[in-house]
Amino acid sequence: MPFSRLTSAAKDLSRQARQLDGPPERHGIVTATKRGCVWTPRGRAFMNPLKEVPPRQIGPQQGPLRRVDVPGTASMAIPFVRDFTFDYGVPDRLSERVTRVVADNPGPFTYTGTGVYIVGGGESVCVIDPGPDTSPHREALDRALDGKSVSHVLVTHHHIDHSPLAAPLAARHGCKVYGYGSQPVPPQGGEIRLEAGDDLSFKPDVEIRDGERFDGPDWTLTAIHTPGHTSNHLCFALSEENCLFSGDHIMGWSTSVVSPPDGDMGDYLASLRRVLDLDFDVIRPTHGPAIHDVRPFVQAYIDHRLARERQIADAIEAGLTTIGAIVADLYRDVDTRLHPAAAHSVLSHLIHMRKTGRVTADGPDGLRREYRTAA
Ligand SMILES: [Zn+2]
Repeated sequence: MPFSRLTSAAKDLSRQARQLDGPPERHGIVTATKRGCVWTPRGRAFMNPLKEVPPRQIGPQQGPLRRVDVPGTASMAIPFVRDFTFDYGVPDRLSERVTRVVADNPGPFTYTGTGVYIVGGGESVCVIDPGPDTSPHREALDRALDGKSVSHVLVTHHHIDHSPLAAPLAARHGCKVYGYGSQPVPPQGGEIRLEAGDDLSFKPDVEIRDGERFDGPDWTLTAIHTPGHTSNHLCFALSEENCLFSGDHIMGWSTSVVSPPDGDMGDYLASLRRVLDLDFDVIRPTHGPAIHDVRPFVQAYIDHRLARERQIADAIEAGLTTIGAIVADLYRDVDTRLHPAAAHSVLSHLIHMRKTGRVTADGPDGLRREYRTAA
């Protein structure tokens, strides 16, 4: 779907959230290339990939919302990787055992679309995150899987850009769908949507836990529970290539959304550290290109969150007790349309800081709560 059609208020806020911590667009940098078409984080923008792209003009009422680095946050720089060449629906052999098919569902949360991974170099393969259940994508996946048999369908989490095609694909191949064995915390009414959307009908045939292994003739995948983006998020490690399929836990093109109540910043940081410790050679996210420089990237991802936490702690120390006041200060150079999304991000940090005894408040956590430094 072109970005021009993503017009609802929720989608708009979602995009704001992405760009708040995500891709810097201030230089109008071309960030991904589809063959014959150049991409920016906002979608198909320029038809000639060889032509130099002029900087985007950013006005108050239109165009992408830019991220402005808050002073003193140089350590938060993340070495994003966004160069991405592919054709929709055409299988790309990425390694001996890994093939990717990208679904044509670009959007504020999906970058250029959902990258479906087919793992296995032979006939017997596993599919990770089959993606949206749309006819062109289903047909493309069927073509990519022609002559192969799918032994397992693995799902990283229940978002609509990841899981809807899982059950139909498994039924077609007579295999099962595997996902984390707990239901996500349902969204609460009136909250800003910061996600592509929940697939609340998703229910794995087999509920799996951390450490579960799946074997094929030439591949071994191990489930790694990585809560944070969602409570039920799994990554899958391919031991033969020391590669991690990271779902939305770690993405090269952007930071990940961590939105309460199902998203949890404390869990998220712990899950990032766990991936760092496991020392993978390559990370293959669902959206966008692979991350090859894994260690510095994941470390920067962690540092970015810790730096934000320090800023929030300093703001509270300086007497800013409400999320509104903290946002107005920390994001003062940022378009005010970004502030609602910023408030949600600050709340997820505050919940974690309260749990770890650094801030305190009276009553349950929420956007209208007043916070103070813990004694
Ligand atoms: Zn997601």
